[in-house]
Amino acid sequence: MSNAVAQKVLADMQAASFIREMFEKGRRLKAELGEDNVCDFSLGNPNAEPPQAFFDALAAVAAERKAPLHRYMPNAGFDETRAAVARFVSREYRLAFDAASIILTSGAAGGMNVALHAICNPGDEVIALAPFFPEYRFYIEQAGGRMVLVQTDAEFQPDLAAVEAALTPRTRAMIINTPNNPTGVVYTEEKCRELAALLARHDRPERPLYLLCDDPYRRIIYGLDWCPTPVPHYPRSIVVSSYSKDVSIPGERAGYIAVPQSVPDRGLLLGALTMLNRTLGFVNAAALGQRVIARCADALCDVGFYQTNRDLLCGALCEYGYELTTPRGALYAFPRTPLADDVAFVDLLLKQRILVVPGRGFGAPGYMRIAFCVERKVIQRALPGFKAAIEAARARD
Ligand code: PLP
Repeated sequence: MSNAVAQKVLADMQAASFIREMFEKGRRLKAELGEDNVCDFSLGNPNAEPPQAFFDALAAVAAERKAPLHRYMPNAGFDETRAAVARFVSREYRLAFDAASIILTSGAAGGMNVALHAICNPGDEVIALAPFFPEYRFYIEQAGGRMVLVQTDAEFQPDLAAVEAALTPRTRAMIINTPNNPTGVVYTEEKCRELAALLARHDRPERPLYLLCDDPYRRIIYGLDWCPTPVPHYPRSIVVSSYSKDVSIPGERAGYIAVPQSVPDRGLLLGALTMLNRTLGFVNAAALGQRVIARCADALCDVGFYQTNRDLLCGALCEYGYELTTPRGALYAFPRTPLADDVAFVDLLLKQRILVVPGRGFGAPGYMRIAFCVERKVIQRALPGFKAAIEAARARD
């Protein structure tokens, strides 16, 4: 075994190898057939146009010549941006946040790393719900913690009995993500309240139990006015989110952590988060994005664009006989694969020049994730291939 990189890193790279293989297959297919001849649903890269408010703010900020615009700043971010984000999250969570509650981060991904480093002691357990966003394991282990996976129920909602059974004296935190990547499920109000009550029963001053709400898809919802959340009901909640999906600017890395006033020892926690934003090497969230967000903190991309994609894709898949729960949010459909072996079925789709990700990459073999943040014509082009693949799978049985 090579010793060019750390053993842990090498092991992680090997564990993730089948996802890499998938991407490799996709890359080869695109090289062979041309980008436009492959229907790529493998990446959750938001492709709705950012809203006009974003471009207006960007133009205004670009025209500014204020001296500190491009310099270092306090590690938690510009005060005006923190205040604007605080106003926005207060409305969004129906809970009062002040500017001091907000730490601006390099996306939700940076925020999750900062938050986990702030709370994990070596070997602490962090519960995540499967199917899960595979980056969580890296984030948790980088922070010295250990991921404990708990299966969701048949509708991909939290299974509270299973969560309770997984709690141990080492449990430090639980991560939830609603709307969910990869399932597209939105947790119900009832589940959110029950989860909050369950955690409250197990939270102890000598063993604080945090709830990390990884919420970057919170406003990408379909046919709902509001995304239910346990945050107002569980005092030791931490919100981690970003403008990657709402404003459709994932490349700008504009994220934040919001710490409600109900969190015990909040000042200490905020101090730790601010320091870690620096020492983990982010230093601060990028200045330009912060200035822009200060002017359009509640801007939202055209969610209707994704909803139309969802309807077109999911309507056709159901018609062809795929088993799936129609996503209520986020950018993904998560059908059962017509073959029990998800990788084998994903290979059948590859023959149709369609790229999706096998469910086992998310801890859910027998499913596949289809990211519908693509151009509409990609879905239209792919539909006959989805039909042909399920027919080929049936012919095998
Ligand atoms: N959490 C989940 C569940 C995600 O799907 C993603 C991105 O796809 C992130 C966090 C990170 O998002 P950001 O671009 O805000 O870092």
